[in-house]
Amino acid sequence: MAKKQFKAESKRLLDLMINSIYTNNEIFIRELISNASDALDKRYYLSLTNEEYKTDKKDLKITIETDKENHTLTIKDTGIGMNDEDLDKNLGTIAKSGSLEFKNELEKATKNIDIIGQFGVGFYSAFMVAKRIIVMSKKVGSDKAYQWVSSGEDGYTISEIDKEDYGTTIILELKEDTKDEKYSSFLEDYEIKNLIKKYSDYVRYPIEMEVEVSKPKADNDQEFETVKELQTLNSMVPIWKKNKKKIKAEEYNEFYKSKFMDWQDPQKVIHYAVEGNISYTALLFIPSVAPYNFYNADYEGGLQLYSKGVFIMDNAKDLIPDYFKFVKGLIDSDDLNLNISREILQQDRQVKALAKSIEKKIKSYLEDMLKNEREEYEKLFDNFGLNMKFGIYKDYGLHKDILQDLILFRSNKEGKYVTLKEYVDRMKEDQKAIYYVCGKNIEEIQKLPQMEKINDKEIEVLYFLDDVDEFMINIMQTYADKPFKSVNKGDLDLDSEEEKQALNQKQEENKTMLEAMKSALSNKVKDVRISSRLKQNPICLVSDDGLSIEMEKILSQGPNAQQIKANKILEINPEHEVFQTLKDINDNHPELLADYSNILYDQALLIEGMPIEDPVAYANKICDLMIKANKN
Ligand code: ADP
Repeated sequence: MAKKQFKAESKRLLDLMINSIYTNNEIFIRELISNASDALDKRYYLSLTNEEYKTDKKDLKITIETDKENHTLTIKDTGIGMNDEDLDKNLGTIAKSGSLEFKNELEKATKNIDIIGQFGVGFYSAFMVAKRIIVMSKKVGSDKAYQWVSSGEDGYTISEIDKEDYGTTIILELKEDTKDEKYSSFLEDYEIKNLIKKYSDYVRYPIEMEVEVSKPKADNDQEFETVKELQTLNSMVPIWKKNKKKIKAEEYNEFYKSKFMDWQDPQKVIHYAVEGNISYTALLFIPSVAPYNFYNADYEGGLQLYSKGVFIMDNAKDLIPDYFKFVKGLIDSDDLNLNISREILQQDRQVKALAKSIEKKIKSYLEDMLKNEREEYEKLFDNFGLNMKFGIYKDYGLHKDILQDLILFRSNKEGKYVTLKEYVDRMKEDQKAIYYVCGKNIEEIQKLPQMEKINDKEIEVLYFLDDVDEFMINIMQTYADKPFKSVNKGDLDLDSEEEKQALNQKQEENKTMLEAMKSALSNKVKDVRISSRLKQNPICLVSDDGLSIEMEKILSQGPNAQQIKANKILEINPEHEVFQTLKDINDNHPELLADYSNILYDQALLIEGMPIEDPVAYANKICDLMIKANKN
């Protein structure tokens, strides 16, 4: 029989599994049981929605068998099953989505194999304990059964077999025990019982095993005999139906990890029930780290949907708004029709009401967290804040009222996070606007010439560190009736009347020089002006109201970059020595003013972190100046 090869990524992962020294290798049980439970869900759903595949619920179960003699562990399910194509597709390939990121993670994984599960590699984890795996399966509705066999690296075979019942049987031929690893412990009843309790207690189908028990003999209750007894190892109550008070943190954590593709405990668990027009139970989780592909287009948000404890679908996106898509979890409602499809989901009134209720709950949960667990909230915001900012920006600001009080910014006040409300509450009495400054990072912003005066006047400025920030506030326009104002843009309106007058006067006095500079830079700037925002630094570049310099930087990375330009204004500090130099040059060597203007303009671009048009010309001009300075 021809051997098929695993896909390249799968092979790498397999190598890792086979040679794994992962101390927690017992989790393979959790992975296989979880697959079996999913397969049972699918069959049960089919049986309820399609007459042809009607099944008796009591036939849906998972059975575990241990065989010490042959050193095998078998996990059987009566689920949906797989045909030859499914076996090839599902067990021959891993990382169906995001394979590139997956490979990157894999490089790191040699040290941290905890990524198991996160990428849908669950099944392969069995190779941590098995030297050969046989999967026998018959798909519901099919009359043929197939067998998939693999010892890992050297590929796999698929062949037709006889199998009576629908479902899947997985036989693990365990590795030989070594000094450090006792694989044979997975053949001990107590060990299996413990593992099922620990990882799979909530599974809603019975997990059965024949267990050896010691019992008094029927004819003589003084003597004991060992007999085999079929036991159900799990309690079968879905965790979300249990009394909240009786659920331990570890139970939630294990459930979350096995169900929602994460290898870390969640940061928060939100478990609640609602009775009313629409009744439902929700078990929601906030991950403690953002999933590796969270900000990629291929990230699938959405919640799992159950009706009366029956699994209906995964990733139901209509249940949760995009800006909260970092919340994972499930909803179980008695009020939904089992036959509900993704298409109907979008229009269904009940579902809309459900989604509204979930959104409200999450919002108030986050608000409480922000109020009462600031540190925890800031951690969450570091992970998912960007997603909420996009939420404000998208749909023309339709959701800004829901989100604007959940957004945090750093500011020049101790560099700590601040909400818009906190900012406005502690604003100076006569301050008319919410000030912000854009930059790549805090250090860079603190060095910006534009910040000098503002720091001097002890005005709080929000740091806009994400590309989306300025776009977002353009959509918001105001917060609590206060407009947003960039320290790089237009008139800051920070000066007193006297200061303004003095500035105007200076502007008038130096009009000819400023005009001359402006015409030297005619195709580059809209104006050259005397600055009211500088203290120590000689120059800065600001923009007119309208497109900001920061937005130009961001948009210049996209298509149509050439057309998108901010209206730039070069501002000069009248208190700086270079200002006097310019005046002297203008009086005595006006032919040099154009060069000087261009040098200053290029310097202003450099300070902004923008490219200069002709670096060679710039360098040559500076060299000329150095040579001249030496001659004088
Ligand atoms: P995941 O479960 O994360 O998708 P796995 O590697 O564990 O990844 O399984 C791959 C796929 O193989 C599953 O998505 C499922 O379609 C199929 N599969 C695995 N085990 C079973 C089973 N016991 N019954 C039916 N299908 C299964």
